[in-house]
Amino acid sequence: MAPPYPTQRPTDATHLPADEFDLPTELLNLPWIDSHTHAQTLSWADRERYSLAGCRAMVMVASGYHWTPYKPVTAADVRYLWDDAINRRRAIERNHFFEAGLALGAHTGVRIENPAELVGSMADYCGLDEVVAVGETGITPAQHVESWDLDAQFELVRAQMELADEHDLPVILHTPNATGEGPDYRPGVGLPGFELNTELAEEPVLTGENPALEAVEIDVDAAHEAGLAEERVVASHADPNNVDYLLGETDCYASFTVGYEWLTGVTAADVAAAIEEYGPERVLVETDCANVLDTDVFSVKRTILELYRLGIDIDDIRQVVFENPRSVYGLAD
Ligand SMILES: [Zn+2]
Repeated sequence: MAPPYPTQRPTDATHLPADEFDLPTELLNLPWIDSHTHAQTLSWADRERYSLAGCRAMVMVASGYHWTPYKPVTAADVRYLWDDAINRRRAIERNHFFEAGLALGAHTGVRIENPAELVGSMADYCGLDEVVAVGETGITPAQHVESWDLDAQFELVRAQMELADEHDLPVILHTPNATGEGPDYRPGVGLPGFELNTELAEEPVLTGENPALEAVEIDVDAAHEAGLAEERVVASHADPNNVDYLLGETDCYASFTVGYEWLTGVTAADVAAAIEEYGPERVLVETDCANVLDTDVFSVKRTILELYRLGIDIDDIRQVVFENPRSVYGLAD
């Protein structure tokens, strides 16, 4: 029964039962892990927002060609990204109090001139305590500036997976999203929200009905060839185009990028659908925040609240935003 209010006439409060809704206050302090972010490229204020929003730990990924100015890329260019992340990781942790593990890898979005040399140097990095994953990597259907044939991409992905297996590390895949057609922008303005010269995209090397899905299927083949167990593969950028394959036909993890719905259309509703269909055991969530993209540091925290609204149990929410990444990456122990 609603209490008798001294309002002049009945209000909503008069008509609503007082105990209608139990506030899920534990969500406000639920620890969460960003399974894939490029937070080392963000501003200090962005990283502070992570702590303010209760981020307990993150995987800081250093591998993307977005931060290497020269195209094609050399092994030394990619190593610079790894070294930069190593150089700053501890200072970031000490400033903001969350734990930051590193993922180091070689992306295939731009051709690398001497990939064997890069893989050769990677073993020593994989042995570092702060390195919690190899990646992001994986077959890319179309490169930036200059194409890279599938065989060469496959060899680089496979070789990194072998190293991951030797060092008992998981691999983060850059699983391509199947994005729909966006609006038609005025010539010359590029893609608003993505500070990359997208006009320099090459013709795809992977053609067919569904290249975004085909790419992740080839990645899983590479894992098999490398002897890396499927349960050591985390497919980032999971979406409705690949989730049935990943969770229905493999033992891989599917990590949903919720940090830029404007580009991929992926939201908490996709995460909720995956949990309802396949259970929470192999589902993760990530922001993929990066300075080159319009991304949202708060997106995982928002997803926590939205998953509850969508009917997901708090225990399951906790599992996907905290327990799963905690066990996959060995963070927040
Ligand atoms: Zn990324």
